[in-house]
Parts: sequence; structure tokens; C-alpha cells
Amino acid sequence: MKTINDNIKLDDIIIIGAGAAGMTAALYSLRAGKNVRIFECEGIGGQIATSPRVENFPSIKEISGSDFSDNLSNQIMDLGAEFEFEKIIKVEKALYNDKEIFEIISEYDNIFYSKALIIATGAKHRHIGVEGEEDLIGKGVSYCATCDGAFYKGQEVCLIGDANTALQYALLLSSYCTKVYMNTLFDKFFGEKALIDLVKSKENIIIEHNLNLIKFNYDDELKSLIFENTKTKEQKEFKVPACFICIGQIPQNENFANLVDLEKGYIVTDNDMQTKTVGLYAVGDCRSKKIRQLTTAVNDGSIAAINACSYIDKYYN
Ligand SMILES: Cc1cc2nc3c(=O)[nH]c(=O)nc-3n(C[C@H](O)[C@H](O)[C@H](O)COP(=O)(O)OP(=O)(O)OC[C@H]3O[C@@H](n4cnc5c(N)ncnc54)[C@H](O)[C@@H]3O)c2cc1C
Repeated sequence: MKTINDNIKLDDIIIIGAGAAGMTAALYSLRAGKNVRIFECEGIGGQIATSPRVENFPSIKEISGSDFSDNLSNQIMDLGAEFEFEKIIKVEKALYNDKEIFEIISEYDNIFYSKALIIATGAKHRHIGVEGEEDLIGKGVSYCATCDGAFYKGQEVCLIGDANTALQYALLLSSYCTKVYMNTLFDKFFGEKALIDLVKSKENIIIEHNLNLIKFNYDDELKSLIFENTKTKEQKEFKVPACFICIGQIPQNENFANLVDLEKGYIVTDNDMQTKTVGLYAVGDCRSKKIRQLTTAVNDGSIAAINACSYIDKYYN
């Protein structure tokens, strides 16, 4: 472990990721009197900021995801949270004044230091892996109906996916697209029954199961998609200008593998959100766990913050 002899600015707690989990960790840490620096590489709010409607957060009957994250970010900014808009690409342990601290390095080679570190990096959209996909991003292929759906108002679109997010996207798209062709790879949905029932009740959502995307037809932009029925092997073309791909997520934790154990890419913690490195916690969707929801993200954030604060109080006093 390297020793730092220079005078450095040492934050109490650094949080990587300003989604629901990271911002909740900031809320609890700030209220415990700690100073908090929070890094975000895309947009404050993380995934939930892209959700049009949240109806399962206790005590809030209905709220848009962007309002939810705005409320939370305002709440922590009022308490003194400091945001940095940089991607963290490396974390190390170091010795400073004979105490172990964290060295946190950003994509711009900026270096920050903290007594405790909370990783809250969430997860990213999974790509489908069909030729042309990467070229078509922004030209007909999207992973976020909330962000791009309105561009296709009054038109027919395709949606690939079978779980809660896909179901929510189908509902959103159906509110302004003439038709939503919702194609799933397997023969059923895997989401909440209430959402499935709602999707099935919409006349302009046309559901077809057992369809596997095999080709994008495109020049500069998407022209059509070819699917193959996995049972009959029949091919079917959908002439639509847009395809929303909603087939799950992948974690983004490789940069921290030197200090944490990963399980299928997700960070392993105990019930206190503690990783294998003392003083380093992981929270929210980046963590290895079964249920990834807002409630579980904020649960993790609060637990990690309380434990991080008590770690600092014990270790640094
Ligand atoms: C469309 C949609 C609708 C949803 N609807 C609901 C719902 O109704 N109810 C519900 O309970 N849940 C819902 N969810 C799930 C819920 O949003 C997530 O479970 C929760 O928001 C996860 O929060 P998080 O903070 O763990 O991660 P994220 O929200 O993924 O936030 C992680 C943040 O970390 C940032 N980051 C990642 N790596 C780095 C790095 N190296 N450096 C700096 N920053 C980094 C990312 O940019 C991101 O902003 C929905 C999700 C989506 C996508």
C-alpha cells in the first residue's frame, strides 16, 4: 500500500454514483455531520430519472422518476453534498498519517481522497448483439423509451423485452405511438401481474411471444427489423422507424475488482453493505442481490451510510 506524505484534502465519505442508492447514502451521511463528495458520470438520478411514473415507493402515490430524483438531489444539496461530474475509473487504498484511506481517480486523472467509500454505480442497459445495433443507436435503436419515445409520436414502433421495464416502456409508448409491437423471446412475460394486465388491456400494444431478432435493415437509419419465430422458424418483418431494446442490465464494476469480490459482475457485500475491504461499501443495483428496486436501493444506501459513519467515528478518533 502506498504512503501519501503530501498534504491532501481528505473527504469523510466519497460516493460513486448519484442514483437513488448513492444519493440516499449521501443524505444519511450528511445528516450525521459528515462531508460528502458524490461522483456522477452521466446524469443525476441514475435509472429512475428515466422512468415516467413511479407508483411503488411507500407514501408517494405517484411521482415521475425525474421529480423523484430532483427532490432527492435538492434535499442533499441543501445539506451540503458536493457533486463532481466525472467518471471514476480506479480506486486504491493508501496510507495517510498512519491511517488507511481511499484514493479515488477520475477519467481526467483527478485524484480525490476519502476516509470511507461507497460504490453506487447501478447497472447499464444490455445490448442485443445483432449486427448494426451500435451504428443505429440514436438512428432508430434506443434503450430508453422515456428519453427517445416522443421522437416517434404518431408512428409505429417495436419494443423488445419481457420484464417490468419493458412493460412500463410499452405503456409509455402506447400513450403517443399509434402501435407498439411488443416482441418477447420467450412465451410469457416476467414482470408484475398488474403491469402485464395493463399492457394486455391496451389495444395499440400488439404482443407477440417467441420472437428472436435476427436482423436490422438499415441504411443511415433503421428501416425494418426481421424476427424469427423460435418455434415455427417463420420470419416476420416489422417496418418501423424505431426499436426500443429492453432486455436487462449489466453491472459496471470491473474498475473496482481490486478491492471487492464480484459475482456475475455485481459487488458482493454482507448485510451491512460492507465489501471485503474495510471502509468500502456497495449499495443499490451494483450490488449482488435478488431484488433491484428503488426501495431496495434506498435501503442499501441508508445502511451503508450509517455503517460508514460509525466506521469513521471509530477508526479516526
Ligand atoms: C425505466 C425504469 C423504470 C423503473 N421503475 C421503477 C419503479 O417504478 N419502481 C422501482 O422501485 N424501481 C424502478 N426502477 C428500478 C430503479 O430505478 C433502480 O432499481 C434504482 O434506481 C437503482 O438505483 P441505483 O442508485 O442503485 O443505480 P442507478 O440508478 O443505476 O444509478 C447509478 C449511477 O451511477 C453512475 N455511475 C456508474 N458508474 C460510475 C462511475 N464509474 N463514476 C461515476 N458515476 C458512475 C451512473 O451514471 C448512474 O447515474 C426502474 C428502472 C428503470 C430503468
